Order: sequence, then C-alpha cells, then structure tokens
Amino acid sequence: MKRDDCIFCKIANGDVPSKTLFEDERFRVILDLAPATRGHALILPKEHAADLFELPEEIASGALVVAKKVAAKMSEKLHCDGLNLVQNNGEAAGQTVAHFHIHMIPRYRDDGQQINWIPGGSTEEGLEAVKREITG
Ligand code: 5GP
Ligand code: ZN
Repeated sequence: MKRDDCIFCKIANGDVPSKTLFEDERFRVILDLAPATRGHALILPKEHAADLFELPEEIASGALVVAKKVAAKMSEKLHCDGLNLVQNNGEAAGQTVAHFHIHMIPRYRDDGQQINWIPGGSTEEGLEAVKREITG
C-alpha cells in the first residue's frame, strides 16, 4: 500500500515527478536531489515499507536485481570507476526518509567522497560473544 503522507510513495508511484532512470511494476529508480556524486540514484519500492525490517522478502530480493540492472547502465554510460550501495535503516543509522530505499552512488577516482566508518578493534572472545548473541 502507498501512504498519502510519504514523499517516496508519491515519487515511486509517479504522483510527484522525478528524474526516473528505471521503472517496473514494483520499483522506480530516481536521481537523488542532493547527489553525493554524478548519477547518485535511489531505488524505491512502489509499495510502502519504512525500512529493511518491514520490507517483504520478495521486494528485498527484487531490489538487488534492479540494482544490478542499473549498475550495468551506470558503468556503461557514466564510465564510473566503482559503485557504492548504501542502505540506511533508522535515524541512528542516518535514515532521513522513512520509506525503504537503496542509494546507488557511482564512484569516480578522486571524487573526494567518503563513505566510510571508523574500523574498531576485536578480540576472539568479543567476536565469539556477539556471534552467540546474534545466533543464539
Ligand atoms: P537517507 O538519508 O534516508 O538514507 O536518504 C534520503 C535521500 O533522499 C537523501 O540522499 C536525499 O537527498 C534524498 N531525497 C530527499 N527528498 C527527496 C526528494 O524529494 N526527491 C529526491 N529525488 N531525493 C530526495
Ligand atoms: Zn512510502
């Protein structure tokens, strides 16, 4: 179902115009209004789900197939040197629009962007403990 109060529902379903790169029955891929790099795009499911936790499995798997199609186009047409897929869930993770989306960020040598985290340290015991917590 689409939500009347959700901007990405409106865009995905064509009620608000966007620069659309790809569309099928379940998805629309649009250019981001504040691009990190040239060609930065967003994969939007047409059906509302706030985030990955709410996303139906068949939409989750379909989204990566769409990413692959658009990635091939970006590589061919934009001649990007690399590509980041970024997907934020929850405010703590940097999500600002509560409608599931995957960022596709073409990367160019020396584009000056940083899509990074600070690597931490680990111990065998620490890794074992968190593995047990997640899988137990
Ligand atoms: P998030 O921070 O939730 O992972 O990413 C939201 C993204 O949506 C941002 O990169 C932002 O620039 C983009 N965005 C927000 N509103 C609009 C809009 O109305 N149209 C488009 N094309 N992009 C939007
Ligand atoms: Zn929505």
